[in-house]
Amino acid sequence: MIIAIDGPAGAGKSTVAKKLAQRLGFIYIDTGAMYRAVTLKLLEGRVDIKDEKAVVEAARSCKIGLKNPPGGGLQVFLDSADVSQQIRQPRITEFVSDVARIKEVRSVMLGLQRKAGEGKDAVIDGRDIGTVVFPGAEKKFYIDADFQERVERRFKELAAAGQDVSRGSVEKDLRNRDSIDSNREVAPLKKADDAVRIDTTNMTIEEVVNTLFNQVLA
Ligand code: C5P
Repeated sequence: MIIAIDGPAGAGKSTVAKKLAQRLGFIYIDTGAMYRAVTLKLLEGRVDIKDEKAVVEAARSCKIGLKNPPGGGLQVFLDSADVSQQIRQPRITEFVSDVARIKEVRSVMLGLQRKAGEGKDAVIDGRDIGTVVFPGAEKKFYIDADFQERVERRFKELAAAGQDVSRGSVEKDLRNRDSIDSNREVAPLKKADDAVRIDTTNMTIEEVVNTLFNQVLA
């Protein structure tokens, strides 16, 4: 069974998806982490992000691996190196949506994502899982929250991870990514017609996980 969880940045998708996967005994696939890994590869290789041909070549040559360690969570590998922490750096966040808007990059990622999920019991989070990657997913959710609440959540998450960020910079990043992700030509962020929208603005993580869990079992 595939459970697709889409929605904008900062809505709490990955926290909830991880917990839901653990509770169901499903694997967890974070497709944003894949776009982040490609972006890391580009920055490390000093590839000009405006040079689409070079970007696509680098994306094709990436070896991206996702592992679910036994205690829960997610490990992300790029060309065999564990990059789980590095892909969360602000410099990656700043450029990832510009990389993810490129059609050929998306088609490489689409192949990897389908391969990772097909035939498995998986919770998959992203922006286009229910619309493009797994349009036939058995369960689809669109997780949203008010903009200011998303800013607050992302700010707290980054601060807890030791990142020195201001609310203002988080707000700017979310506005920028919301706009690029929603307006791009290929696979823009949008709710699938048959996805259940959940406004998590006034919900705790546990309440959201319980809601999803009960709907999956229903
Ligand atoms: O989920 P996360 O915020 O880590 O994703 C980083 C970026 O990757 C998003 O802002 C978006 O540009 C891109 N992305 C995407 N399609 C997905 C998952 C992520 O375009 N399925």
